[in-house]
Amino acid sequence: MIVMKFGGSSLEAAPAIERVAGIVSEALVRKPVVVVSAMGTTTQQLLTMGEEAAAGEPGKKERALERLRALREMHEREFAALLPASAQDELRQILGCHFREMADLLGQLSAAGEFGPESVDALSSFGERLSSRLIALVFRHFGMDAAHVDARCVVLTDGRHKAATPLYSETYARARDKILPLISQGKVPVLGGFIGSTENGVTTTLGRGGSDFTAAVIGAGIAAEEIQIWTDVDGVMTCDPKLVPEARRVKTISFAEAAELAYFGAKVLHPSTLLPAMEKNIPVVVLNSRRPEITGTRIVADAVPCSSVIKAISCKRGISIVNIRSTRMLMAHGFLHRIFELFSRAETAVDMLASSEVSVSLTIDDPARLPEICRALREFSEVSVEQDQAIVCIVGDNLRYTPGVAARAFGALQGINIRMISQGASLLNLGFVVAARDAEKTVKLLHQEFFRNVDPAVFD
Ligand code: ADP
Ligand code: ASP
Ligand code: MG
Repeated sequence: MIVMKFGGSSLEAAPAIERVAGIVSEALVRKPVVVVSAMGTTTQQLLTMGEEAAAGEPGKKERALERLRALREMHEREFAALLPASAQDELRQILGCHFREMADLLGQLSAAGEFGPESVDALSSFGERLSSRLIALVFRHFGMDAAHVDARCVVLTDGRHKAATPLYSETYARARDKILPLISQGKVPVLGGFIGSTENGVTTTLGRGGSDFTAAVIGAGIAAEEIQIWTDVDGVMTCDPKLVPEARRVKTISFAEAAELAYFGAKVLHPSTLLPAMEKNIPVVVLNSRRPEITGTRIVADAVPCSSVIKAISCKRGISIVNIRSTRMLMAHGFLHRIFELFSRAETAVDMLASSEVSVSLTIDDPARLPEICRALREFSEVSVEQDQAIVCIVGDNLRYTPGVAARAFGALQGINIRMISQGASLLNLGFVVAARDAEKTVKLLHQEFFRNVDPAVFD
C-alpha cells in the first residue's frame, strides 16, 4: 500500500487532473490510497470570499457571491471536460449541493458580520470536500474503481480551528477500519486532505498546506510502505526554486533534516508532515506531477553519507522579533520563566531565542496575540517589536561535524545586517534573522557559497 497526495498545483485544471489520473493508474499494483488538495487556488478564494461576505461594506457581499460563481464555473468547466456525457448530471448534482451550502454559509457570515475560526474551517473545507468527490468520479471514468471517503470521518482532531492536531490513535483506528476493507476489495480510496472533524462532528482544518499532513497521518494509520507527495517541483530542492532558479534537487535527505526545513519555511512540506512518518518509519517521497519520470526526493530515517556540508536553505517570512529587557535586575532568575509562561498562555510558539543578563530577544511567526503579550510583558520589562523580519536557515546533518561553517556563512553574508543568530539547539540548523527585504539576497548568497560544488551522490 502507498499513499499518493496531489497538491493544488497538481490539480489546477483538466490536463493536470488527467495527468494525475495517469500517474495513479500506473501505480495500481502498489495499492494506492489517494489524498487530494483543493483545485489550484480554491482555498485562498474561499478565504477571501469569507472575509468579503463578513465585511459588511457595500458591494462586498456581491463580490463574494461573484467569486463563488466564478469558482463554480471553474470547477464545472474543468471537470466537464474530463467526464463523458453520461456523468455530466452527476457532476452538476455534486456541484449543486456543495455550492448551495457555500452560498448559505456566505449568507450567514454576512448576517453575522463575522468570520470566526470555526466558520473559516467550515468554508475552507469545501475545496477538498469538492475536489475529492469530483476526482473520485473522474478516476471511475478513467477505468479505476475509485471510492470516495469523507476525510472528516477518518481524521479526528482537537478543536483548535485553523490549525487542528489529529488525535492519532483514534484517527489511525478509523483509517484502518474505513480504508483497509476498500483496498482489500481492490478499490482506490480517494480522500480530501486538510480537513478533519472534532469528536462532536464539527469540521476542522489542519492549517494551510495541511494536505501533506493528512497524507502522512493516513499513511501511518494504514502502515503504508511509502507516502508520496506529488507537487509542482522536482522534489525537495536546495532552496525554493522561486527564489533561486538554479536550485538543485536533493535526491535523499533524513527525516530530521527535512522536518527542520519544513518547520523553517520550505513550503513543499507542511511542518508536521514528517512526525507520523518518522514515528512509523515510513519513507516520504516528494515527486513532480508534471515530470513523473524524475525520481524526486526520498526522505528516510538515516541520510546517506554526503560530502557537502549542508543539504538545503529555508526561508520563513512574516517573522517578528520581540526584544524584552528586564526593568528589575534582581529578578533575573525568574525572568525567562515568566516570559515563557506568557507566550505559552497565549499559545504563541517561539522559534528563536537569544539572551543576555537582563534582556531577551525572541522571534515568533504568528503576531495575532502580540498586543496582549506585550501588554503583559510591560508589567515587568521594556518591550520593543520589530516586524517584517525573516529567518533564513542552512540545514544539514554535517553541520555538527564540520568546523568553519559559521565563518563561511558570515563571509558570504558581508553587507547583510544579521539581527539574530542561532546554532546548536537542533545541531543540524544554523539560522539567521534578517529584515524580510534582505531575505532573498541572503538565500542567494548562501546558495552561491554552499552549493557551488556539491556531492553528486546526493544532489542532482
Ligand atoms: P502543493 O500545491 O503541491 O502542495 P506547494 O505550493 O504547497 O505545492 O509547495 C510546493 C512549492 O514549495 C514549490 O513550488 C516551491 O516554490 C516551494 N518550496 C519552498 N522551498 C522549497 C524547497 N526547498 N524545495 C522545493 N520546493 C520548495
Ligand atoms: N488546500 C489547502 C491549502 O491551500 C491545503 C493544501 O493544499 O495542502 O492550504
Ligand atoms: Mg502544499
